[in-house]
Amino acid sequence: MNRRKFLQNTALSGLGLTVGTSALAKTVSESNPNTEINKENYPLVIATWNVPNAVSKAWQTLQSGKSALDAIEKGCNVEEEDPNNSSVGYGGLPDRDGRVTLDACIMDEKGNYGSVVFLQNIVNAISVARKVMEETPHVLMAGDGAEQFAVSQGFKRQNLLTEKSKQAWQEWLKKSEYKPVINIENHDTIGMLAMDKDGTLSGGCTTSGLAYKMHGRVGDSPIIGSGLFVDNEVGAATATGVGEEVLKTVGSFLIVELMRQGKSPQQACEEAVDRIMKKQPDRRDFQVAYIAVNKKGEIGSYSIHEGFSYTIYQNGEMKNIKPGFWFDGK
Ligand code: ASP
Repeated sequence: MNRRKFLQNTALSGLGLTVGTSALAKTVSESNPNTEINKENYPLVIATWNVPNAVSKAWQTLQSGKSALDAIEKGCNVEEEDPNNSSVGYGGLPDRDGRVTLDACIMDEKGNYGSVVFLQNIVNAISVARKVMEETPHVLMAGDGAEQFAVSQGFKRQNLLTEKSKQAWQEWLKKSEYKPVINIENHDTIGMLAMDKDGTLSGGCTTSGLAYKMHGRVGDSPIIGSGLFVDNEVGAATATGVGEEVLKTVGSFLIVELMRQGKSPQQACEEAVDRIMKKQPDRRDFQVAYIAVNKKGEIGSYSIHEGFSYTIYQNGEMKNIKPGFWFDGK
């Protein structure tokens, strides 16, 4: 008998109880409300920002009997292909050199993950990330190699810089001041979580990253545990905002682990924002926001500043919700 089992059995026999290890494991997981099943809450789709078209597409994909992973990919593709979304895919704002570089990742219920960073000239970065996950022995591909791989998989090369985003960049060049905007309502990174009718979870995140970033900069969105984390036993989380702050605190993994320890999705999101703000309570110049879901289909969300909202489709109804925020009353 190993030491852990010995201690468990000793503690229980001290209480006059004798149980097998599997019964003990069951008791532990049952004591965590985040791992419970509640079919009334499924299926569901939740995404960062006001993205009704993307969330509807994901919902329809689930309704047609497809998987949560398919729903994530199809939903995120909508924003990637929308020239009016200035933070994702085609029409995304470029870096300071005028190049649009994309980051994306996807994660399924088995813990499989695929990601692309610094991808250029391909609209559907999340679909390339899925191909990395399903067709290669790797999990993360970057730059030219990721682009070549995408082309080998049938993706078409395309210039992602629209006339509108080119003009915005040329305007920015006049001052060339790098300053992340706190909220770009309706136009920001899409992080999406979906549960099918049985509660099976998947997630994805896709972005052109912060506007006018340095050429070569990669944010949190494609990095497992930072911009996204999915654990089908417990729940999932995803992020938007200044990726550097999310990366430094491994925010999405933190939220899922806090839920594993019994925190609600809401408590876990609040603690992840606290971790960022405790180190720099006086900085008011950046936004980070999280959304999370547990296995039961309960939702949490929290941001640093007012202005963030998320879109949810659950029980046949779609809503846009503004969560609480850290600077409220501070
Ligand atoms: N998190 C993204 C990044 O840092 C940006 C965003 O959410 O808009 O690249």
